[in-house]
Amino acid sequence: MTAKIAWAKKRDLGDVVHILQVSNGKAADCVCLDCGGELVAKHGTGKMAPHFAHSANTECRGEGALHYAAKHLLAEILLQQGLILSSSSGEVSEYIRSERVVFPYQVPDLMLRAHCISTEKDVSDDWRPDLVAVDKNGNSIAFEVAVTHFKSEKDIIKIRRHGMDCVEIDISDIGWDADRAKLTAELHEIKRQKWLHRKSALEAKFEASEKLASRISQLHDIHNKRIRKFIAKGWKDKGVGFLNPAIPSLSARHEARDVFGGIVVGEVVRTPRIVRIDSEWKHGDSGAAVTAVLEKGVKINLSIVDEMVFYQDEDSCMEGPALVLVVRDSSAGNMDLRGEWYGVERWQAKLDELAKKDAVEKLNIAKERQRGLEDFAAEFRRKKPEEQLSIILRKFGISETYSVGRYDPEWNTSETVWKLIIWHYKVLKKRSVKVVDLANDRWFAKMLGFSQADSRRRCNGLQPWMDLLVRNNILRPGLHGALDIMGKLRGPVPGVPLSD
Ligand SMILES: [Zn+2]
Repeated sequence: MTAKIAWAKKRDLGDVVHILQVSNGKAADCVCLDCGGELVAKHGTGKMAPHFAHSANTECRGEGALHYAAKHLLAEILLQQGLILSSSSGEVSEYIRSERVVFPYQVPDLMLRAHCISTEKDVSDDWRPDLVAVDKNGNSIAFEVAVTHFKSEKDIIKIRRHGMDCVEIDISDIGWDADRAKLTAELHEIKRQKWLHRKSALEAKFEASEKLASRISQLHDIHNKRIRKFIAKGWKDKGVGFLNPAIPSLSARHEARDVFGGIVVGEVVRTPRIVRIDSEWKHGDSGAAVTAVLEKGVKINLSIVDEMVFYQDEDSCMEGPALVLVVRDSSAGNMDLRGEWYGVERWQAKLDELAKKDAVEKLNIAKERQRGLEDFAAEFRRKKPEEQLSIILRKFGISETYSVGRYDPEWNTSETVWKLIIWHYKVLKKRSVKVVDLANDRWFAKMLGFSQADSRRRCNGLQPWMDLLVRNNILRPGLHGALDIMGKLRGPVPGVPLSD
């Protein structure tokens, strides 16, 4: 879109005029505010808004016209009525525990009437503000009028370095054809102002920061005194031992999978204990520090800090190994300690190694046990049925004279007997059983003296027993009506002989 020009300069007097203030056509007698070229006023007809056009062919599009007009009007306002400059306010704060200590500051608004104005004059090598107003006391305030170009962060740094107060007025949202009355009203709008630099506001902020710093240091003093008292009391009551309950354990965990996909967890936990301290307590701004000695003569940096201070300095690097004991108010109104370790990466790495080793050992034990079970099962299979039964009975501590083999057409016997039947399957390395298979198992029929007639009735009789074993976590419903045998039925301990 081509830029539209609504503002121009009268050729003779140099006045800045709006399109509606001049005659139509060449009679306007105006030149371009950007290039100085001759302009023609086009008051137009129909939809075309009144505007200026260059009379000769030119590259110039008069983009700076509105900016120039605004500057011109602003100078007029500053010299004649004066302009109210906005107040500046802010706050400085710091967190102490969850509480925020805040100091606000404010510089009130101000009526600026310019004694004189300079435009487009270099203030420094790298800064030429749109205009500089000087009040009757000789104070200078720079103005930047933003139509299409705002000051960048880099520009603002330059302005601050120079030190002259500076206000940016944002009129970027005003139409290109705004006339004198509209432009004047908009330039008066306080909300269009932004202080790029204001010395008095910086001073007020600095003052507030000093107050904040002094308040913070006062709070530190209060808390440091508290810590001294706390340490003195602890020492009197329990000596070095008063520190130990606050020391957190260090631990590591390592998970490994056994050949069956089960998870074996290796774990180590160490709780270091302080046996003595090796130096005088050094009291500083944020608490007290000392060299402490652990059980095996390992030295650590120990500090006691108040919770309030600690959360501020949390990021400060701790030379490890270091133990920070944080003092806090407990609910009972007493003070207690809570410890945190820092710089113990090497210890942690060692614990991780130990946890891994523990997992490997546990895996080996499981493997060993599995091998024992396999040997046992192989041997069990080679036994005669009578011997197998006797092994099972011994395993469950049932005397051989117990009437397991009592004739019962519905195989209605005790839970213990059903348990041992399931165990028999487990030894034979079955992972699941079905009621119908149990009902038709010849081994049972022969060994336990169960009737082989009427398989369906036996199934019905078996079902409640299997349900009971499910409730007792010995079986679990599996796929296709099968019952998975759970690990709860322990096999024999490896190495236990099958027969005496
Ligand atoms: Zn031009």
